[in-house]
Amino acid sequence: MSAVVDRINNYRSKFEELGVDAMLVTDDENRRYLSGFVGTAGYLFITQDGAVLATDSRYTEQAGNQAPDYRIDRITGRLDWIPGLIGEFGIKRLGFESDNVTVQLLDRFKAATAESENGAADLELIPTSGVPLGLRAFKDADELALLQRSIDIADHAFTEVSKTIAIGDTEDEIAWRIEVAVREQGAESLSFPTIVGSGPNAALPHHRAGDRKVQAGESIVIDMGARYEGYCSDLTRTVVVGEPDNQFKKVYDTVLAAQLTAIESVEAGMTGAEADNLARAVIVEAGYGEEFGHSLGHGVGLEVHEAPWVASRVETKLEDGMAFTIEPGIYISGWGGVRIEDVVVLENGRARVMSHAPKIET
Ligand code: ZN
Ligand code: ZN
Repeated sequence: MSAVVDRINNYRSKFEELGVDAMLVTDDENRRYLSGFVGTAGYLFITQDGAVLATDSRYTEQAGNQAPDYRIDRITGRLDWIPGLIGEFGIKRLGFESDNVTVQLLDRFKAATAESENGAADLELIPTSGVPLGLRAFKDADELALLQRSIDIADHAFTEVSKTIAIGDTEDEIAWRIEVAVREQGAESLSFPTIVGSGPNAALPHHRAGDRKVQAGESIVIDMGARYEGYCSDLTRTVVVGEPDNQFKKVYDTVLAAQLTAIESVEAGMTGAEADNLARAVIVEAGYGEEFGHSLGHGVGLEVHEAPWVASRVETKLEDGMAFTIEPGIYISGWGGVRIEDVVVLENGRARVMSHAPKIET
């Protein structure tokens, strides 16, 4: 069976607890995940024994090629096809993605079904949330291969560009060299705008890149990723040009120890909060607890931030097959910061590291 058929069947197995007999999928990444269709417009209508991809004339041929497990219905901007499918499949309770459907679109669904004469008028529309996202937290073999490729591209781009960084380069110049390298390696795009934070800017986890020139001895946080066939990588390394100061060595060693501790000790069955605390405890012990202000990690896949969430207060358990980042950091206002981020996948209960970009040896 194709990976897509397995995904559809996993999705159908959730219908009973959702209390629906069909789902309308509108989210771009969920549509891609559940069908293979990469176009940017269209709806999936999935019942226990039917799978229809409804899209407009721009996409019907592409949809036929990319989503062979679906019947392709050609639609226009009007929603008259919805009551048609509801009548055809005898649907009483139709789930929709409440994280994605706008109030306006929901009103249009309601209007389209209320006007219908073929049994859709008494349809119940059921809001659902996070269901494909929960399935997407687990990566199948096809997905792991694409994710590994996007990670390899970022690793390679970082490794090449990091050798070229010189005093006086601006953050923007370094970010551009990374973008070029990522594209030259075969990525379709960056997975997010590259962060290059030098000196005091390295203390700002959400700094992007600017015209500041890199100086000797200061920390430079580079957070970057590639997108390959939809799959996003996410990699952070902290580098220094010239001799780092003593503070850098202490902070870097603490972050690296925290990261390696989490990678070595995270296990399937731990909650997101327990995993987060593996690294956090090392940083707190070193006296930098207040300077680690974000969570330890997040899932990566069709989106650069997705389930599972590895953060304090997350009670969801990590399980085999989940791929996520481990990215502790320490940020000291006015001085700089250090963050180190790898992607891991849980296999046989333990983390296998998927990123291989070099780290500084202090
Ligand atoms: Zn990152
Ligand atoms: Zn990240």
